[in-house]
Amino acid sequence: MSTLLHSVTIMTMTDDAIINGYVIVDDNGYFKDISSGVPTKEGMSSVDTVIDGKGKWLLPGLINTHGHLGSTFLRGAGDDIPLMKWLQTVMWPAESKFTKETVQNAASLALLEMIKSGTTTFLDMYHLHMNQMAELVINSKMRAVLCRGMIGLCSEEEQKEKLLESVQLYHDYHGANDNKITVALSPHAPYTCPPKFLEMVVDKAIEHNMWIHTHLSETNDEVVKHEEKYGLPPVEHLNKIGLFQNHCLIAHGVHVSENEQEILLEKNVSVSHNPMSNLKLGSGIAPIPIMMKKGINISLGTDSTASNNNLDLFEEMRFASLIQKGLYEDPTITRAMDVVQMATINGAKALRLNKLGMIQKGQLADFILINPNVPHLQPWDNSRVLSHIVYSVKGTDVTDSFVQGIQIMKDRQVLTLDEEKIMHEANNYLKLTDTASS
Ligand SMILES: [Zn+2]
Repeated sequence: MSTLLHSVTIMTMTDDAIINGYVIVDDNGYFKDISSGVPTKEGMSSVDTVIDGKGKWLLPGLINTHGHLGSTFLRGAGDDIPLMKWLQTVMWPAESKFTKETVQNAASLALLEMIKSGTTTFLDMYHLHMNQMAELVINSKMRAVLCRGMIGLCSEEEQKEKLLESVQLYHDYHGANDNKITVALSPHAPYTCPPKFLEMVVDKAIEHNMWIHTHLSETNDEVVKHEEKYGLPPVEHLNKIGLFQNHCLIAHGVHVSENEQEILLEKNVSVSHNPMSNLKLGSGIAPIPIMMKKGINISLGTDSTASNNNLDLFEEMRFASLIQKGLYEDPTITRAMDVVQMATINGAKALRLNKLGMIQKGQLADFILINPNVPHLQPWDNSRVLSHIVYSVKGTDVTDSFVQGIQIMKDRQVLTLDEEKIMHEANNYLKLTDTASS
């Protein structure tokens, strides 16, 4: 179905251009035309649907490159605790009690929250019921990279089972739903995956031409212990194991030395920067400006709602920009365009997704609309749109969302999910766990 959407202010991301005009999306969900001005009558009659953008802002759908959707119900379950203690006393014990239904309802809540705050593509690393997750993504009509998260602190037999599950997910869903789902391999982290297991992961990655996503160097403590145990810092060690041979995306990269950054650059490794999670868990602040200057691809992630505590990438952009300005006492160090790129073009590159992240002819038509008619976005003209997007917009200002040309949210109503049911199930979970623990 072809669509023409007019009367919008378009942030193309191809350069700093802001255009007042219209877009045309072809039958296959790609942008066919991006033009300034008003469409001709012939142009209007040549498409199946015409939508009046009513003066809204149009920009690429945001790309969240790190999260754990299945644990969304742990939002607010354990705040103000350091990472390792938090994993061991809050996350892992609670997750061990999750049923398939809990994971389904939690993931549905995350999908709803992401769509309602402007995300159209995301990466999910989770260890439970990923087939179910794939089906949820298909129904939601979003775009996703799915990874069966693997912890290797178990017998070799169990390790092999986990790998087998990951590869099966790849066979079953990679390229599914019009190529909107892709599948990657995901060893959880070097501190939960012994070198021998990581070697097995690398073998599988090469065998099936899969890429790898992993947590890496999130806390200083983890890096120190890794060096004590293996005699090498984590990035150097993983490079030696061959983890970066195919494409690799690491989450966090808060504590990486200059030497390790050179390895990341040389091996074309992307970094998913999760500033809010890193701040909340007291893990530190990633050396993003230095890595950016070197040419390392930096994308943005929220991590799970248990350490953030929301999935709003507009907030994430704002934090990514502000914390570095404060840290370096330099307001020029992370510009507004830098962080918008992290949440769009760089995210597409990090997830190995071509033709995504820009409003340009031939690109996939994943885009969102923002209603600027709210007090916190006044006054505005084209010269202020970029500034407002980074420093003023809230996820709730997003009114409409399209993935591959198909509308999934209209006037803040998500068309592909049952919002009322999802909210009900979320609160039901809390009631059930309260009853179980009392
Ligand atoms: Zn994570």
